[in-house]
Formats: sequence, structure tokens, C-alpha cells
Amino acid sequence: MQCPRCLNSDPEFFYKGSRGWYCRKCITFGRAMLQEEKEAISLSPIQSGSEEYTLQYPLTSKQKEISFACKQLIEESDVLLHCVCGAGKTELVVETISAYLKKRKKVCFAIPRRQVVLELRERLASYFPNAKVIAVCGGYTEILDGDLIICTTHQLYRYYQTFDLLILDEPDAYPFRGNPVLHGISETCCKGHTIYLTATPDKTLLARIKKNTLQCLTLNVRPHGRALPVPKICIKTHLGMFYTLLRFLKNHQKEKTIVFVPTIQMANTLGKILGIFFASFICTSKTVNRDEMIERYRRRKNGVMVATTVLERGVTIPGVHVCVYYAEHPVFDLSSLIQMAGRVGRSYESPYGEVLFLQNEKHQQTDECVRMLREANLECDV
Ligand SMILES: [Zn+2]
Repeated sequence: MQCPRCLNSDPEFFYKGSRGWYCRKCITFGRAMLQEEKEAISLSPIQSGSEEYTLQYPLTSKQKEISFACKQLIEESDVLLHCVCGAGKTELVVETISAYLKKRKKVCFAIPRRQVVLELRERLASYFPNAKVIAVCGGYTEILDGDLIICTTHQLYRYYQTFDLLILDEPDAYPFRGNPVLHGISETCCKGHTIYLTATPDKTLLARIKKNTLQCLTLNVRPHGRALPVPKICIKTHLGMFYTLLRFLKNHQKEKTIVFVPTIQMANTLGKILGIFFASFICTSKTVNRDEMIERYRRRKNGVMVATTVLERGVTIPGVHVCVYYAEHPVFDLSSLIQMAGRVGRSYESPYGEVLFLQNEKHQQTDECVRMLREANLECDV
């Protein structure tokens, strides 16, 4: 027996109710009955002209190359676009989306995090002015049908065997990462191929490349062509770390700095202490009106944002520096270290910036992060 929705086949999770066997592994999405034939969801036809698009900035020649290769490869196979943070990965799939819309095929762009869904909907709607681009996520579940669907990975359960192309953005991010139910649902919602977009592919994706079931395209250069900021590792005593942090913040007091910390408690405590010396903001999963607060910070010239990993992805704050405090803490894995460092130097106006890893002890993972970023920079001309 296998669950038609989440693909679970562990008998422990199958229960018999009054209507027959069902799966308890994905029960949070309602009962999936095992014997009943599940019908593919069919959505309304795609409007003509919806494939026309204009980008805000033209693609660089390197981006064009990858964009074109992606459009070709996806005909035959799943594709991984392995791009460094800030490489403009969304723009790389626009040509492929357009090709599918032209063939009147349904495309879904799925992302683990809700706040990114709404932002991305705006962006893609501006690229495809004739298409009905809809967002489906918590608070936005009334309209489920459009030419192009942008949703959280949690909402994919609504679309059984629906999409001809699924674009899965940041599959290594929480809560999609390591979640077998969401992985299963992402497979059953799509009847065609999948594009994975990430700077930090996990072991499953890397294994599929080896097995040749996934084609990988790599982009190691940001559109502005400048090298990625490589973190400086600084190992100190607890007190020494604090003083080093103060010095780092003082050096950049005319600019903005994000200080990443491992826990909410530390964010609150450190945020208050730093508030004595600097304009300081605190950003955790508990912060109320988080998006507004981030927007307020973005508009400022200077100030310190103390944040947990909640801010590690999907946020671009021009001209920012980054310090990861207790970078050796187990809450930061290799992918979050790369993502946090990747907040720096993203925009054309300020392609440089500093990244500091402050640690109490040496750690293999932070060393690995530095090695990987240096390696990616070998392809950079500048
Ligand atoms: Zn299931």
C-alpha cells in the first residue's frame, strides 16, 4: 500500500476507518483514502498572451546561457539550478516559464516560506503582465486557479497531478527540508518535471546528480560580477567575542549590520544591550509585524539588526554587513552559514561588504563554508 498523496508506504501509518484505509502520515492535510482513485485536479485553460514577459533588468550573458540551457534540459529531465546567493535565480527560470505558458501548460512556483510567496507573486506579476499570477498561502487560499501559481510547499497538497512544471525554490529551507510528507506531496502534485533552485543543495539532490536523474546547471557569479564576500573567522573567549562584536559594529556604525544569533533568547538579550550603543532592532520568529519592521530597517542609513535564522533567506538589504555570533552553534548548519553570508554585497550599488564569523572554538563547518565560497569565487573575473 502507498499513500497517493504523500507516497508514504510505512504500514504503521495506515488506519482503517468507516470508509476504508487512510494515511495518517499526511492527516494534517485531511484524510487521504488509499483505495479510492484520486483524480487529477484540472485547472482552467491558460489565457493567450500570458507568456509575454519583460524583465526589470536584462540578463547577463552568463545568466542567459543558464536560462537557455534550463529551457532545453527541462524537456527531458529534472533540473537543479545551483546558484550562489544573490545570483538572480528567479530570473533564470522566467524564459522556461514563458515557454510552458506558451504551450498552455501549468506552472507552479513553490517556496517553503510564506513571506517570500507574496513578494514573489508581485515580482512575477510584473514580469508577466498578461498572465493571472496568483499567490496561495496561509491567509490567501480562496483563489486557487490562475495561469501561474505561486504557493508555499504546504499548499501543494491541493493540486494532485496538476502541474506540468514545478519550480521548487530553496528545497533546503525549513519546513520543507527533511520533511517526507512535503517531499511526497511535491512529487504527486506534478505530472511533469521539476526545477530545483538553491545555493545549497542537500545530499538527496547531490545523490540524484550522481545517478544522472537530475541535470545540474551552476552559476557562481552574481549579476554585478563581483566576488562573493568571504567570511573572516575570529575565535575568542566569550568576553572577547562581545568586544570584537562591539568593535565590528563601531567600524560600520555609519552603515547597517545584521548580527545573527543562534537563539531567540540571545537575540532579545543582545538586542537590548546593543541598543545602549546603536539604533538596534530585533528580528525573531516571535517578532510582531516582522515584515513592517524589516521594511523600516531597510529604509534606514544605519543601525544594527539582531536576528535569528528567520532572516537568513529571501531578504535583500542593500549595503549591509553581517556578523554571525557563535557561528559554531549547531543551530547553524552549512547551508544557513552560506545563506547568512549571502546577505552581503547583493546589489549593484553596494556589491561589497564584510562578513565576520565570531566563534568560541574552531569548527569544521565554518571552515567548510569559507572553503566553498572561495571555490565559487575562482570563477569570478573581478
Ligand atoms: Zn499520506
